[in-house]
Amino acid sequence: MRIKYNLPKIKFKSLRRIFKHFGGHLKKHKFRLVVGSASLLGVTFLSLLRPWPLKIVFDYILIKNNKIDTDSIMSFMYDLKTNEVLFIAAAGILLIAVVRGLLTYTYGIYSKIIGHNLVANIRMQLFSHVQRLPLSYHDYRETGELMTRMTSDISLLQDLLVSMVINLASQIVLIIGMFGIMFWLDWELAVIALAALPFFALAAVKFSFMIKDSARKQRLMYGKIVASVQETFAGISQVKTYSQEKRRERFIGRSIEKDTTANVKTARLTANYARVVDIITAVGMCAVLWVGTQKAIVNEISPGDLLIFLAYLRGIYRPLKTVAQLSTKIAKATVRGEKTIELLEMEPEVLEKEDGLSAKEIKGDIEFKSVNFSYIQEQKILNDFSCKIPKNKTTIIFGPTGAGKSTIAKLILRLYNVSNGTITVDGEKIEDYKIRSLRKRISPLAQETFLCRTTIAENIAFSKTKASIEQITEAAKLAGAHEFIQNFSEGYETLVGEGGLTLSGGQRQKISFARAAMRKSPIMIFHEPATGLDVHAEKEAKEILFRLKQERTMLVITHRINFLSLADWVIFVKDGKMIEQGTPQELFEKDGEFKKFFAIDEKMLKDHFSLLN
Ligand code: ADP
Repeated sequence: MRIKYNLPKIKFKSLRRIFKHFGGHLKKHKFRLVVGSASLLGVTFLSLLRPWPLKIVFDYILIKNNKIDTDSIMSFMYDLKTNEVLFIAAAGILLIAVVRGLLTYTYGIYSKIIGHNLVANIRMQLFSHVQRLPLSYHDYRETGELMTRMTSDISLLQDLLVSMVINLASQIVLIIGMFGIMFWLDWELAVIALAALPFFALAAVKFSFMIKDSARKQRLMYGKIVASVQETFAGISQVKTYSQEKRRERFIGRSIEKDTTANVKTARLTANYARVVDIITAVGMCAVLWVGTQKAIVNEISPGDLLIFLAYLRGIYRPLKTVAQLSTKIAKATVRGEKTIELLEMEPEVLEKEDGLSAKEIKGDIEFKSVNFSYIQEQKILNDFSCKIPKNKTTIIFGPTGAGKSTIAKLILRLYNVSNGTITVDGEKIEDYKIRSLRKRISPLAQETFLCRTTIAENIAFSKTKASIEQITEAAKLAGAHEFIQNFSEGYETLVGEGGLTLSGGQRQKISFARAAMRKSPIMIFHEPATGLDVHAEKEAKEILFRLKQERTMLVITHRINFLSLADWVIFVKDGKMIEQGTPQELFEKDGEFKKFFAIDEKMLKDHFSLLN
């Protein structure tokens, strides 16, 4: 496969936008930023000075007789004693090393302090922002993608803001400085040295693309290995049951083999790269040495100057490589940085509308009036949907899977906004309430109980920070969970969730019932309360719901007719439309679609009314 050589393009407009957006975070660190940048500039300057003590030894001690440097500012050294000049050179080496070390340290520490603070600030800002984005955003994002935004993207952004740009500038200054000095010493030799530059650049571009391509393949293979291993161990019982061990081994073996090949290729390319660079450097140095020595013989340059040329030429490859690497990194970080800005600029939910109504006293008289709603444009989920959910009654929304039942619950919680039509709670439009206040009065029970990695007591108290153990026990009793919790050796302090005790489906369900009971909210929504339960557990769940239904608006969403005995009010939904609504008795008498759909017979009716009496 041919590799495309796309050179990285730094978008300066985007770069400016990123600095403008996050620059505020840097303001607090002005002092550190200035001192850090000045230190880096100092390091660059001292790097340029590094070969000079050697020149001093050559020109003013070893080959002193030539005296070709008489008009330089250092010519006073011709008149000094050997030991004195030697002292200057040695002190120079030492001083350069000490000061350079100190400045490198200052820059390193300051850039890290600024960087870590920056990451903390941006991460916090991003986290709290993303949490507040509407559910419609989260529906279409994978958790992995958000994790990348929160971790590696922010690290890249930090490097971009704190070190990449400053570093690039310092490396460019270093390269210009080296050539500046070379031209100042002897322009002809400088031109010869400059001629090596395109070859360096060519090698850098060619090899870095090939290495990158090979490393990408290696990463891909590595990812495959990790995924296969994970998959195998996650389903190890299935692998064993179906005697698939050998096949899995062969499968993973192939990926491991390919990964090894890619690894070796990357290593070979890297080694080759170093070899080519060494050869180019050597050729350049040969040319400079050849011409330079001739010039030194006829006293056009001093031997010390020739030494500086050779030292610079040997050292110039490193900043050149850094510039190439940094340009790629900056281009990549700029793209990621822009994505972070886009995310931060997304409109969050307004949880606390200033003049919003408080839902503190609501009873739960809910009404949908000609509501239209779609998750994705042009895909109507609720179509001219109207219904009544009376307060202090138990309403069951029946309907086949995909009818739009859960969507109704999500709209009541205002997780999404309706396209048109209105939803009212106690006669007030749902949009007029403060979202947080409204959600506080509704206990939604999801199909899947989400357990946090903590004690059972804290899982029951989930939404209440200050709950007494008495309140928790009372809720657990109401939800029929007290008995099994007590049977655990650590009772309410038993750890559950990831890394803790695994609960059965029925037990999880009861914990979530207890969680709802704990909240004592005027509106409770139960979503498919029988999911994953056996007949016995389902019956128990029904009894618990009976206990919970006192004095509150209860909404049960289900496609299972068994829950009918709970209902004071029934809404039958199909294809996003309200087909029928009324008391169970009204719907039975009507002999309409609801009755037909569930093939309700005399026995069911009898059961329903016997439970009511
Ligand atoms: P029910 O609860 O009656 O089974 P839902 O309200 O969950 O039905 O779903 C109704 C329709 O909306 C289905 O066709 C479903 O695919 C679609 N739907 C549900 N949630 C989303 C979503 N977040 N994004 C896009 N479509 C969705």
